[in-house]
Amino acid sequence: MDCIFCKIAAKEAEAEILFENDEVLSFLDINPVNYGHALVIPKKHFDNFLEVPQAKLDGIIKAVQIVSAAVKSSLNPDGINLVVNNGKAAGQSVFHFHFHIIPRFHDDDFKFRLNLKQYKNGFMKETGDKIRLNVKTRNNNE
Ligand code: AMP
Ligand code: ZN
Repeated sequence: MDCIFCKIAAKEAEAEILFENDEVLSFLDINPVNYGHALVIPKKHFDNFLEVPQAKLDGIIKAVQIVSAAVKSSLNPDGINLVVNNGKAAGQSVFHFHFHIIPRFHDDDFKFRLNLKQYKNGFMKETGDKIRLNVKTRNNNE
C-alpha cells in the first residue's frame, strides 16, 4: 500500500517529528493552516477514525493532548482546533487516520464555511431515533 503516513511512521519518508512512542507519532503538517499545525497518527495504518480499535484510542488522544498543550505553550495561539476529516466528502485526502491540531489566531482569516440547516416537523426526533437505534446496537456489542 502506498501510504505517505505509513512511510513517515517507518522513517522511510521525512517529517518534522514532534512526539513519538511505540504506537503514536506526531509531526508538522507540510501545508499548515497556521505555522505549528500538527498531525497525530497511529503508527499502524487505519483508513479512518471508525477503523481504529477502541483500545488504541486512549494512546492517540493522550498524544493529541500532549502535543496540543505543547503547541499552546510554545506558540501561544488564541485557540486550537482539533479536526478529524473522515472520508473524501469530509475533506480527507490522506487515508491513514490522523488528528489535526491547528493553532488559531483571532485574525488568521481561516473559516469553516457554514451553511446551517433547521429541523422541521419532528425531523430532529426522527433523526435522533435513527441514530439512537445504532448507538444501542453498538453499545450492546461492547
Ligand atoms: P486530510 O485532508 O485531513 O486527509 O489531511 C491530510 C494532511 O496531511 C494535509 O493537511 C496535508 O497537508 C498533510 N500532508 C500530506 N502529506 C504530508 C507529508 N508528507 N508530511 C506532512 N504532512 C503531510
Ligand atoms: Zn498508512
